[in-house]
Amino acid sequence: MSTNGKLFVVGFGPGNFEHITKRAVEALQESDYIIGYKTYVELIQGLLTDQTIISTGMTEEVSRAQEAVKQAELGKKVAVISSGDAGVYGMAGLVYEVLIEKGWKEETGVGIEVIPGISAINSCASLLGAPVMHDSCTISLSDHLTPWDLIAKRVEAAAMADFVIALYNPRSGRRTRQIVETQKILLRYRSPDTPVGLVKSAYRDRQDIVITNLKDMLNHDIGMLTTVIIGNSSTFLYDDKIITPRGYQRKYTLNSEKQTLKPHQRLQKEAEPWALDQEADSMQETLTEPAGGVGLLTKAPEKKSASFEMAMEALSRVKGQTVQQSIKPIVQQKMESVFELAVSPGVANKQFTPKQMMTLAEVVGEKGTMEYTPNHKIVLKIPTTDPEVITGKLQSANFLLSPIGDVLTLKACDFCDGEKAESIPYADEIHRVLGGMKMPKELNIGFNGCGMACYSAVMDDIGIVFRKGKFDLFLGAKPVGRTAHPGQPVAEGIDPEQLVALITDIVEEYKQNAHPNERLFKYFKRAKKIQSYSYQDIAPKIHIEPAPCED
Ligand code: SAH
Repeated sequence: MSTNGKLFVVGFGPGNFEHITKRAVEALQESDYIIGYKTYVELIQGLLTDQTIISTGMTEEVSRAQEAVKQAELGKKVAVISSGDAGVYGMAGLVYEVLIEKGWKEETGVGIEVIPGISAINSCASLLGAPVMHDSCTISLSDHLTPWDLIAKRVEAAAMADFVIALYNPRSGRRTRQIVETQKILLRYRSPDTPVGLVKSAYRDRQDIVITNLKDMLNHDIGMLTTVIIGNSSTFLYDDKIITPRGYQRKYTLNSEKQTLKPHQRLQKEAEPWALDQEADSMQETLTEPAGGVGLLTKAPEKKSASFEMAMEALSRVKGQTVQQSIKPIVQQKMESVFELAVSPGVANKQFTPKQMMTLAEVVGEKGTMEYTPNHKIVLKIPTTDPEVITGKLQSANFLLSPIGDVLTLKACDFCDGEKAESIPYADEIHRVLGGMKMPKELNIGFNGCGMACYSAVMDDIGIVFRKGKFDLFLGAKPVGRTAHPGQPVAEGIDPEQLVALITDIVEEYKQNAHPNERLFKYFKRAKKIQSYSYQDIAPKIHIEPAPCED
């Protein structure tokens, strides 16, 4: 038997010449024979010279592989072509199967080289934004070679394990029910709003991209040349792109939907309440240190790990429950996220009650944290699936709750425990109207009940000081840093009835016009004016080197 022959199994990518690899082009041009499905041969025709073409119909895959092996054994160089990657529902496995049937061994038999290509999951994903990103799987809905029951089981397993799913062969002229059944299964585990991308003929002449969702996907054209990409539970839409975040790091904040963490907030331990090493940390607590000795594990941790339970669940499933039986899903839409908020006893009230302290301890629990801040607030970070239970308990203990981050916060003094109560209603009103509002950068309003201003209102972004029945206003303090300075006194003796509207106008102007991350003092300096108040440079006149704390 001649062994000069060689088999190339070539994945040519989605179908245009920009997305085929150099090695694939070389292999095609080196070959004597090109063997493939008619439509595929046509797609690569422009790369060929005088190669002999053996093109066959869709269903003749086995004879294609056999012919390829035969020609290679006769000493020819043969390229068997697949679209995308030949190892993904392509010809690679089949060629090996034919060789194996003939007792082929690498050492003595014809040479074989499988040349990788860009598979549909990747080419289609690139046209949709970044829908894959995280753990994903491909499922072919073709039940020609695979029993439907098994396909349905895989769809269900992928759905419950929250994989991003790429459906290949979703529908053909005669196979129309599979995609309908698949949608039904998916809807049992995923929200109807889950983003779905339909890409037809990616990087080919008739390319068509549709962005839809799980509920509506069947109202669009899906055919033989379509790949359907279904997002996971954290996939979102932005400007007509489907984006799956790199991980599940999310947090809840008060008054807002679940949010994705900003990139710089990722990889922080507290943002990963689900991580296995966090479990290891709690297991560490069972380590004891005998006098003068090395740490010893005195008893095995009693808690069964979540991964153990999941493994048992998987095992019971493999032992043969059918898809039709209703089984407890491992993953539903609810996933533990970190809920962040700040609490205080009240706008003016600085006294905690024992009941409040006990409620705090209860809601924070073993896994949460509480941190006392310079703003007279306690910041809570609590892993949970249900923030509303937490806010309910805190509110019934009469806590004042506020979101954290780039929001407006009102800090008031304690009005000498209410003796200077005349102005408290104005502080309450500002908090009610503006408190928690999203801002370009954190914005603190300091509100002090008398000219002593002992809670340093003049050092806040906006300072309000009550004096002789009227208000004084300070704008644009730089509250931290070595060049910190108080706000500029911009008005004295403001009539109480005008205060809330004036502060609202200032805040609105800043919110509308400031750049993202631009603190009020920077905005004031840049804009030179807020409302009718002009900026005056009161920063120190000597040059001070910037000295951020990492230095
Ligand atoms: N080996 C190929 C897959 C062959 S199965 C690969 O790796 O991509 C055929 C299925 O692949 C089609 O039904 C469709 O779901 C998908 N597919 C292949 N090429 C595609 C393209 N250019 N655009 C969209 N989907 C494609």
